[in-house]
Amino acid sequence: PAVLRGLAPEVPEITWDDVGGLEDAKAALRELVELPLRHGGLLSAYGLPPPRGALLYGPPGCGKTLLAKAAAAQCGANFLSIRGPELLQKWLGESERAVREVFDTARQAAPCLIFFDEIDSIACRRGAGGSASAGGDAAAARVLNQLLVEMDGLSDRGGVFVLCATNRPEALDPALTRPGRLDHLLRVPLPDEPARLAVLQAALRRCPLGADVALAELAGAPTAGLSGADLAEVCRRAGMAAIRELVAAEEAWLAAREAAQREGGSGAALAAPP
Ligand code: ATP
Repeated sequence: PAVLRGLAPEVPEITWDDVGGLEDAKAALRELVELPLRHGGLLSAYGLPPPRGALLYGPPGCGKTLLAKAAAAQCGANFLSIRGPELLQKWLGESERAVREVFDTARQAAPCLIFFDEIDSIACRRGAGGSASAGGDAAAARVLNQLLVEMDGLSDRGGVFVLCATNRPEALDPALTRPGRLDHLLRVPLPDEPARLAVLQAALRRCPLGADVALAELAGAPTAGLSGADLAEVCRRAGMAAIRELVAAEEAWLAAREAAQREGGSGAALAAPP
């Protein structure tokens, strides 16, 4: 494609286990994305068209992108990610062509999941107070129109699934959520206590924990109101703090060994490195 240089679909390396909590959304996505790809024959035997798209909505940093990647990865599908504002700004004047190319690329890479993040930037209901100016509104309307045309044109043989994400579902043009388009609305809320525990466990899955780390306690009052992204950041900082301590201990040990060697010894008397 000419406009979309650098847009390369690939199968993400994210599993359902990387996504903490969000069991409802996970189950819904399994049925929407995985079932048609794995058992497409069953749907056509029942005369049912495969689902074409769904909307993930909820506050920032709660796992919408992560869910989309896991859904694609889970069934070995390619993943194509585009941010709404990018469609309008990066390909200024060529946005509609860019939308066509996104779908062409996806068809060529089928099975493929297209993820449109911040979809409200192009699919804002008129007068809903989007950031776009009047001129921007007209451009966004044309891009939205092209998106709808492409979605309506997706074949019943499936193979391309569209997931959109937004923090402002109330601002969306209802044309986008009409049946046959994004007709499944999946809520991705701020995590409650059990979900916070699940996010912490997911984020720390590969991290060795001290015996005194009480994740269940941490998932309670201390982290109330935090998003998944906030929790991941807490884990990252805690991990970095632990690594800093280890580095300091290791450097002290190396310095001690050097000093011992300078005094003629081998340093062998030192205990094992930390
Ligand atoms: P935005 O609306 O800002 O695009 P988002 O809902 O798409 O946000 P993600 O990009 O999926 O959020 O999450 C950002 C980061 O936060 C993830 O890469 C991950 O590290 C962490 N995170 C968020 N939610 C979860 C979750 N449910 N489980 C594990 N990690 C999470």
